[in-house]
Amino acid sequence: MENKRKIVLTGDRPTGRLHLGHFVGSIENRLKLQDEADKAFYMVADIQALTDNAENPEKVRENVLEVALDNLACGINPKKTTMFIQSEVPEIAELTVLFLNLVTLARLKRNPTVKSEMKDKGYEENVPVGFLTYPISQAADILFCKSNLIPVGEDQLPVIEQANEIVDDFNRIYGQTFDRIKHLVGNTPRLVGIDGNSKMSKSLGNGIYLSDSYEIISKKVMNMYTDPKHIHVQDPGKVEGNVVFTYLDIFDNKKEEVSLLKKQYEKGGLGDVVIKKRLIEVLEKVIAPIREKRAELAKNPKAVMRILEKGTKEARKEAKKTMQEVKKAIKIDYF
Ligand code: ATP
Ligand code: MG
Repeated sequence: MENKRKIVLTGDRPTGRLHLGHFVGSIENRLKLQDEADKAFYMVADIQALTDNAENPEKVRENVLEVALDNLACGINPKKTTMFIQSEVPEIAELTVLFLNLVTLARLKRNPTVKSEMKDKGYEENVPVGFLTYPISQAADILFCKSNLIPVGEDQLPVIEQANEIVDDFNRIYGQTFDRIKHLVGNTPRLVGIDGNSKMSKSLGNGIYLSDSYEIISKKVMNMYTDPKHIHVQDPGKVEGNVVFTYLDIFDNKKEEVSLLKKQYEKGGLGDVVIKKRLIEVLEKVIAPIREKRAELAKNPKAVMRILEKGTKEARKEAKKTMQEVKKAIKIDYF
């Protein structure tokens, strides 16, 4: 791939505002890559959001603007990154249909990401077919613009792996058409939620959002899980699995101070309130500039929609080119 053009694609499901997990899992790399790549795309994955929100179209619609705002507020620059809406590029759906033939039901059911998300949502056999097949649609999201580098969180790696199987099968059957896809995982591949249990996720309601106010950040941190056995300040406390320390490790730049605090906490004599107050200030420092820029941008939603409209036009041009090539390869280029 070294000699090839670096084409980056990333995206978010418009199911809610973006949180710190997005920031450390993917957005930091999106920012880096929009400067380094030959071409960068950012997709608002509304079709994918509908796969488990078919009955909530309003939610998906509202959040298209929200996720675009979050990305712009973090520094995604529409001059460097083509920002577009998935449903407005129908070629992606067309490509999905063609890819459906290359994947078996058994393989889809084995995908660890799909498996764990199905469990979270309590689907079992009543899973919407669109949801079960989203990795195939995601392969089309990536490949419609010949993308070959994807900044993602760790939870998405099995989906990329499956997309690469589609690449290999497609190239074997129809001739060399797509590059294999590389991923780039952020410094924190999987940020745990404030509940300490699972991945921070929009759908699980366990996130600290990039738009949260100081008051909300404080409330969330104050309610964070620490060590249930650390009742009195003098008690020795556990650092492992303690969400406050997990976050300090990631977001607090003063590593030496954090390591001293950990020692003190383990020995006893350091209260939860002290470390929580520190974390509130640390997170406020990360979020405040994003929140402020976001509030500015949110004053003009039409301008944001225009960015998406313009980007979508550009994305469609790429899509048409790829589809011509794909149709020729599959021998369905009739007229
Ligand atoms: P949903 O619950 O609707 O699936 P989500 O919070 O998982 O929402 P997505 O839109 O599915 O967010 O994910 C967008 C990107 O952010 C993906 O690349 C994903 O891997 C990454 N990401 C999401 N949550 C985390 C997390 N907690 N840690 C690291 N990366 C994450
Ligand atoms: Mg997700």
